[in-house]
Amino acid sequence: MSHEILVVEDEPTLSRLLTYNLKQEGYQVQAVDHGGEGLQLALRHSFDLIILDIMLPGMNGFEVLSQLRRQSCTTPVIILTARNAEEEVVQGLRHGADDYITKPFGVAELLARVAAVLRRVHPDDGLNAEENDEKVIQVGDLQIYPEKYEVHLHGEAIPLRPKEFEVLLYLVQRPGVVITRDDLMNVVWGFDYIGGQRTVDVHVSSLRKKLEMNQESVQIDSIRGVGYKLIGTVKK
Ligand code: CA
Repeated sequence: MSHEILVVEDEPTLSRLLTYNLKQEGYQVQAVDHGGEGLQLALRHSFDLIILDIMLPGMNGFEVLSQLRRQSCTTPVIILTARNAEEEVVQGLRHGADDYITKPFGVAELLARVAAVLRRVHPDDGLNAEENDEKVIQVGDLQIYPEKYEVHLHGEAIPLRPKEFEVLLYLVQRPGVVITRDDLMNVVWGFDYIGGQRTVDVHVSSLRKKLEMNQESVQIDSIRGVGYKLIGTVKK
């Protein structure tokens, strides 16, 4: 049974991005853009997790959170805070948030936090535990362990930087599909990350080198002026 997540975020682009990627991961998602609406929904329906923005129209995230806790709602909450806002984090945790993530963030990082919080709350979720232990993606001579952020080539662990790993994982999950640089930027670095697309290129070329991707069995193709595509047969 898939977990149900409530997203309370008023920025439409970010809300769509979160909803899309959480659904891709197999979660059921409901999204609202108003604090009060989020509160009502969270009290009426029992979600497994709430992703809660702080700066919201009407009722802000702190008020939503403290109302929830006051009304004995124990659903875990991850708050989305503005950059350089240490005070928001402290306040959020004091109001009963379980974790926080600072904007801008990559979807990959958010998904990892979501999975970690859900694991913490449902430690005896047998199905999940089994999935986590066993999860390995095989492509060509590579074995990829999503939970451990590890890649093995010919049975040996290859040290990758976290962002390199996240780029690889995203491509491997969509073999044969052209992924634009913009998509990779959004997912790995965050939708309002300020940095050139050159960052993506640097990470891809480093991946090719480290993983010896000149082999027939797995390659990352460059699609000129667009982005990248993973070529290879993926076994899960
Ligand atoms: Ca907001």
